[in-house]
Amino acid sequence: RDLAELDADLIDCRACPRLVAWREQVAREKRRAFENEEYWGRPVPGIGPADARLLIVGLAPAAHGGNRTGRMFTGDQSGDFLFAAMYSAGLTNEPHSVSLDDGLELVETRITAPVHCAPPQNKPTVDERDRCARWLHAELELLAPSVRAVLTLGQFGWQSTLRTFAALGWTVPRPAPKFGHGVSTTLTRGDAALEVFGCYHVSQHNTFTGRLTAEMLVEVLAAAARSAGI
Ligand code: SF4
Repeated sequence: RDLAELDADLIDCRACPRLVAWREQVAREKRRAFENEEYWGRPVPGIGPADARLLIVGLAPAAHGGNRTGRMFTGDQSGDFLFAAMYSAGLTNEPHSVSLDDGLELVETRITAPVHCAPPQNKPTVDERDRCARWLHAELELLAPSVRAVLTLGQFGWQSTLRTFAALGWTVPRPAPKFGHGVSTTLTRGDAALEVFGCYHVSQHNTFTGRLTAEMLVEVLAAAARSAGI
């Protein structure tokens, strides 16, 4: 199974009853601003090329963002913040991400998440995280030959990334490094090495309060891109 086949299988997944019910309820009820749109309402696959050198790992799709448009970080303010910074760091061809057909291309970068369905309050349960781990596992296995750096957005993405690479046979330093903004750690497998970076999540809670500024995000994106050889 290649990455396109994996993504095609993923969008049919119904393994988490609570998340299936929520993603479909949101898609039926809609937000007033989008009442004339058809919501995606399904698992949201990763985006970006199968031979990406840089991987960005978030948390889960947003109810009226990715769950509406069908693409990660597309159609909400968190995505606007992320894509503007990625454009500044030379990682996209456009500073915006609006819909599936907006022409956005990622430069040697793929974006994914440990949980592929929008959860209530953006909080998946431990069971849901564990159930969705098989998709991240399969995706990272396919990407591992090309990926040289990973930028994790928030503690959830950091821990899921380290856990998944460890399950794939990569050596993670012990004790496992703690998440922090600007923290990085190196994983190895045989002769291969990759660097994992921590970055505060681009949630409005962080960006509205100034905990994460655009400059901070561009700086860590640029460091991760350099590490990936982009
Ligand atoms: Fe499937 Fe993951 Fe969605 Fe659960 S969260 S239904 S495992 S795609």
